[in-house]
Amino acid sequence: MTALEHCDVLIVGAGPAGMAAAVAAASGGASIVVIDDNPAPGGQIWRDGPGASLPAAARKWRDALARHANIRVCSGTRVIATPACNELLLEDERGWRMRWKKLILCTGARELLLPFPGWTLPGVTGAGGLQALIKAGLPVEGERIVIAGSGPLLLAAASTARAAGAKVVRIAEQATLTAVAGFAANLWRWPGKAAQSVTLADPQYRTASRIVSAQGGTQVESVRLLQGGREVEIACDRVACGFGLTPNTQLGRLLGCALAAEGAHALAVDARQLTSLPDVYAAGECTGFGGSERALAEGTIAGHAAVGNERAAKQHEGERARWHAFAAQLHRSFALAPAIRQMPQPDTLVCRCEDVPFSALADCTGWTDAKLHRRCGMGACQGRVCGDAAQFLFGWTPPAPRPPLSPVRISTLAGLAGQADEGDARQ
Ligand SMILES: Cc1cc2nc3c(=O)[nH]c(=O)nc-3n(C[C@H](O)[C@H](O)[C@H](O)COP(=O)(O)OP(=O)(O)OC[C@H]3O[C@@H](n4cnc5c(N)ncnc54)[C@H](O)[C@@H]3O)c2cc1C
Repeated sequence: MTALEHCDVLIVGAGPAGMAAAVAAASGGASIVVIDDNPAPGGQIWRDGPGASLPAAARKWRDALARHANIRVCSGTRVIATPACNELLLEDERGWRMRWKKLILCTGARELLLPFPGWTLPGVTGAGGLQALIKAGLPVEGERIVIAGSGPLLLAAASTARAAGAKVVRIAEQATLTAVAGFAANLWRWPGKAAQSVTLADPQYRTASRIVSAQGGTQVESVRLLQGGREVEIACDRVACGFGLTPNTQLGRLLGCALAAEGAHALAVDARQLTSLPDVYAAGECTGFGGSERALAEGTIAGHAAVGNERAAKQHEGERARWHAFAAQLHRSFALAPAIRQMPQPDTLVCRCEDVPFSALADCTGWTDAKLHRRCGMGACQGRVCGDAAQFLFGWTPPAPRPPLSPVRISTLAGLAGQADEGDARQ
């Protein structure tokens, strides 16, 4: 039978938002549990691994977690399902249930990967994906890398690749020079970001540039880019391509949390970071992407609010507003151009798990039609990649999440079934 544990505050996600929420909530003495599917706390930005060097801020937050005896961090733990009210089914080396009084969702965001000819070739990854691989120990020394897509993450990925000895031969940003220059001109409002942008400046950076295709046999060998209206071909060993971030809302939606305004694709929260459900808060990039500082401010407010410390929560509202303004600037400046929708050709795979080309989806009426009649989203990733792409390309509503949220061992499910049987027998 599955073990049942209890806590006052359960936090899902140990990125900046989750760590800040835990530290804020812990000050009142409540029992806090933080679960995360990564091997160590830090989330996407402070991802650990043999090729990672953790910045001081990451170490500071990790130390703060460790200093509180009432915070328990469960790394390498996945959320599987929501078996009962105020309860999650979790899995690490065992399956177990955790019952909570307050829940804080800090599930972050994932990269938006969009299809273009050649995007399934070995050597083509997301921009953040490449960063994660390098931090996990992927050797890239001496490799020629092209980074393409949109947003500051391209520069962060380039910096990680270069530090690992790679040669970044081009960074192709789809936003125009005017948009990027406007973004840079406004950075004085966030001096830390202005300073960071100077360290990330790169001679290979080109605006109004987008990927047309990647070529190669068993591995990518070159990319074609449309640069200021002119097509160029660049020889390379790797391509890293990301078009911004998509909030991870699956768990929130499975619980029944409302989404923000139509088209925002993020969890809706009020001034205290409370979702549409009582006792369920959300913070960080699952409420919209905007960087680690925004995530830290939201996490701090959610943590204080969850333990009833409204006064402390209020004190961080100004800081949150400052970073919300930064996020709004980011969204405006790096909005995807309509031409990005034209990247896939008729034979370009949109669902790479089930080999579904763009042409097979063009006449579908929506996600359910595409799933039922073309098998789009029916493969291993369960629509996590092609669902976001289809939403961007066709405007389809994303697939509704269903349990299990992650691949699960049969013994975990069997333990839960035993629980249900026992409950039935008692009735
Ligand atoms: C691939 C990638 C790379 C990035 N690199 C950078 C960078 O170099 N610099 C930068 O400024 N910003 C980067 N970002 C943006 C970055 O995500 C944010 O600035 C910041 O990390 C957001 O903090 P967060 O706490 O909201 O979410 P995250 O940092 O994303 O943390 C969320 C955590 O929740 C975990 N999680 C999610 N769902 C579940 C679940 N169901 N069960 C268990 N655990 C779960 C995730 O594994 C993750 O550890 C990156 C984003 C991505 C997607």
